[in-house]
Amino acid sequence: MNRKVILILCDGMRPDAMENLPYVKEFMKKSAYTMKAETVFPSVTLPCHMSLFLGVPTERHGITTNLYMPPVRPVNGIIEQLDAAKKTSAVFYDWEQLRDLWRPGNIAYSRFEARELSETAVRNTDDAIRYISENSPDFVFLYIGYPDGAGHDFGWMTEKYMESVRASWEQIARVVEKFEGEYTFIITADHGGHDRIHGTEMPEDMIIPFMAMGPDFVPGEIKEQVNIMDITPTIAKLVGASCADEWEGNSLI
Ligand SMILES: [Zn+2]
Repeated sequence: MNRKVILILCDGMRPDAMENLPYVKEFMKKSAYTMKAETVFPSVTLPCHMSLFLGVPTERHGITTNLYMPPVRPVNGIIEQLDAAKKTSAVFYDWEQLRDLWRPGNIAYSRFEARELSETAVRNTDDAIRYISENSPDFVFLYIGYPDGAGHDFGWMTEKYMESVRASWEQIARVVEKFEGEYTFIITADHGGHDRIHGTEMPEDMIIPFMAMGPDFVPGEIKEQVNIMDITPTIAKLVGASCADEWEGNSLI
């Protein structure tokens, strides 16, 4: 295939925090979705992102905390496979540790800014809309850290956390409205959370939303179990890159 894909990940966004938002319901009607997708253990930001980008479980990439350690046996991730297929990638994020999700030399454009997360969600989205309009990259990763920050500060499912999820979807809506038809969208999270933490095997931490909208997805609930590792082979197939031999997830198309 030769699709263009925008992956939007909201850090720490629980399915039950978003499914009743009016815009989410509208988006759901047009997408293939499950509110019961699973992340990997430990349900911690960098390990979960590593499994998403590298398509392998924690025991294979070896990152079990938010501290990156260069692997003994490197695996090509989605960004490397796309680059090998001469596809362009642009990334927008507000948590600096994510810089190790890709190896140097494979990104066309990258934007990171350390600032209040409620502000960077808007500023990264502004820049993503500008960059995509001008350059039309094959793959875009837009990371929104705001819900995780609100969860740790105030508690998951509290009013302030719910507000961070609503505000994140306001940004998602802007991107979808601008590029619907031109891009396929995948919306997900890295993990959930409970009280003011995450990282356990509790369903509140391990269950994540997965939504995909585009011509290759039939709208409606996905009945099969989706895992965070399935996202990378799905993107590779959509954009037109080959999967790395090590990847353990299954393409959803
Ligand atoms: Zn996280």
